[in-house]
Amino acid sequence: MNTLLLSFDLEEYDKAGEDGFEIGYRGGQVVRDLLRRTEVRATFFVTGSFYSRYSEFVAELSDEHEIAFHGLSHGDDYQSMSAEDALERLRTGKEKLEKGITNQVAGFRAPRMRPPSYAVLKSAGFLYSSSLHPTLVPGRYNHLGEPRIPFSQEGVLEIPVSVSPLARLPLSWVWFRQLGVSYAKIVTLALKSNYLAIYFHPWEFVPLTRGGIMYTRNTGEKMEGAVEKFLRWATVKAEPLTMGEYACQEGCTQGAGC
Ligand SMILES: [Zn+2]
Repeated sequence: MNTLLLSFDLEEYDKAGEDGFEIGYRGGQVVRDLLRRTEVRATFFVTGSFYSRYSEFVAELSDEHEIAFHGLSHGDDYQSMSAEDALERLRTGKEKLEKGITNQVAGFRAPRMRPPSYAVLKSAGFLYSSSLHPTLVPGRYNHLGEPRIPFSQEGVLEIPVSVSPLARLPLSWVWFRQLGVSYAKIVTLALKSNYLAIYFHPWEFVPLTRGGIMYTRNTGEKMEGAVEKFLRWATVKAEPLTMGEYACQEGCTQGAGC
């Protein structure tokens, strides 16, 4: 593990109705400061609906970090909609985002990890996807049979989120918050891939009261402190790259059309 691929899904917190956008924004500011302190560049997967409300903030973020796309709206289910609808929504959102930010939008992460086909992603102009969490999340998905390492399909590079070998223990967002920094370090040290791909949501950096223990436990300052500690440890071992930079490196050898 010599590369750190840190990403954030910058979106509305969907347990708080319309307030969820403001919660995402507040968390985004906490995350931006944290990344400045730790000197880490990251990738933000932004929803179109969040971008509509906080476009200036997203534009500012794009001066320091990579902006990628997280669906037109977080309620979108790209797996169950038709290919035409998915393509239309992806193209619309990507174009809108690109008008306001400094980078080309190369990456996509599906809301709730339910992406359309790679052919659709390719047609929409994406170079890479990070929509595969190769583990079991009861009630959401079972990706225990999927690859843990990057692969290219239809000219799109998939960069799976990191999980441990064998038991495929996850260490991103809710698992990081519930199980803690020591646990995340142990899983990281067990990785056999050349990168650690870990992701969080800015809303986790705001103290939450609504949504049950899975969503609220250890949010706010506790989360901020834990992630800072983890990043200071991880960046001694690994160089932070944005996912787009990594995709370009890997894509050149894997046919992602870099
Ligand atoms: Zn999301």
